[in-house]
Amino acid sequence: MPDPLRPADLLALDRAHVWHPYGPMPGRQEPLVVESASGVRLRLAEPAHGHRELVDGMSSWWSAVHGYNHPVLNEAARGQLDRMSHVMFGGLTHEPAVRLATRLVEITPEPLRHVFLADSGSVSVEVAVKMCLQYWRSAGRPGKHRLLTWRGGYHGDTWQPMSVCDPEGGMHELWSGSLPRQIFADAPPDGFDAEPDEAYARHLRELIAAHAEDLAAVIVEPVVQGAGGMRFHSPAYLRVLREACDANDVLLVFDEIATGFGRTGRLFAAGHAGVSPDVMCVGKALTGGYMTLAATLCTSRVAEGISSGDVPVLAHGPTFMGNPLASAVACASVDLLLAQDWEREVKRIGTALRQGLAEASGIPGVRDVRVLGAIGVVQLDHEVDMAAATRAAVREGVWLRPFRDLVYTMPPYVTGDDDVARICRAVCAAAKES
Ligand SMILES: *Cc1c(COP(=O)(O)O)cnc(C)c1O
Repeated sequence: MPDPLRPADLLALDRAHVWHPYGPMPGRQEPLVVESASGVRLRLAEPAHGHRELVDGMSSWWSAVHGYNHPVLNEAARGQLDRMSHVMFGGLTHEPAVRLATRLVEITPEPLRHVFLADSGSVSVEVAVKMCLQYWRSAGRPGKHRLLTWRGGYHGDTWQPMSVCDPEGGMHELWSGSLPRQIFADAPPDGFDAEPDEAYARHLRELIAAHAEDLAAVIVEPVVQGAGGMRFHSPAYLRVLREACDANDVLLVFDEIATGFGRTGRLFAAGHAGVSPDVMCVGKALTGGYMTLAATLCTSRVAEGISSGDVPVLAHGPTFMGNPLASAVACASVDLLLAQDWEREVKRIGTALRQGLAEASGIPGVRDVRVLGAIGVVQLDHEVDMAAATRAAVREGVWLRPFRDLVYTMPPYVTGDDDVARICRAVCAAAKES
């Protein structure tokens, strides 16, 4: 091991060379240096506002559901490391990938049967789109090549996913000349428990029917729209989509990258509606936040359609497809989740978030406070002052990363009640300082 960098040197090199997400180069705000992480705590190289450790309210972009440095996941990684960390997946196969794919088929909605392992959520969405377009091409209907989604969504940062992200506020305008032009329905009406709006359901049905000749698929995030605005909607609209897709020969894709593995209170958000998609993407919490891995699942109908076409193969094959190390950790993470009463833990956190965030509705400038599963959201009536909000949370000993008009938390499922209460104090403090 080389000598550790002193924090000041590390930050100077970071500033000189390292690009951070959604930022300019060099960055405008100095990042915090994390030295290690354990349980629900990030350990900083130097104290920030008197705290050497921060309670993590973000689960590292919603992925670290079991917390950090988990003995079971560490053991899975170490064990696999001693056997092999990687081999190519073309012409070879191995137990971690086979176990993982089988597990995913067992726990996802019924007709999903085949699994394509990808390196990130965005790539899994690219693969989902490729599957849908190729399905119709193979069926002799290449005109069905467009996608429909509702506004307010987020599906990743590569090209096809970007084309179905919310067209307002995203990068759409910057790229409007070069992105594929997709079809947008209005955003689903707010509220998980809200009575389904019949006029909105009609809007969905009519738009799908009107574009049936062009549409390969409808793609949405079920129940929770994440990075597009942390909005919740009634599961009833998913049933409307399923029926309208079936009636018009259109495939249905659920992007469960944010919602999968229990976050909304069901193992998959599709479970709230009791409907199954034709294609489904999972990622983020798949490896418990240990490393990057995602998967695209599809039904036998989709797989057989593609595989009996003029070009009877899916032309996609990431170099690190099925990475054994990531697959082994993913298997361990899924098993760890299923071996515990995760539903109770998610419910417990939801209850604590509801209690702790109740006072936020009284804060001037707060427009809405909402909780679903282990997701707590405070929406402001103005853009968050990111620097001030982050500082306010760190002062409370908590790591948050607000965006747009949202201060929110998605804590690891292992977060204790005291730590959830602390996270809630930090969310309120951040909302006040914004
Ligand atoms: C995060 C996310 C993605 C993109 O996943 P990456 O691993 O960041 O590429 C896609 N869809 C949804 C719903 C997400 O939350």
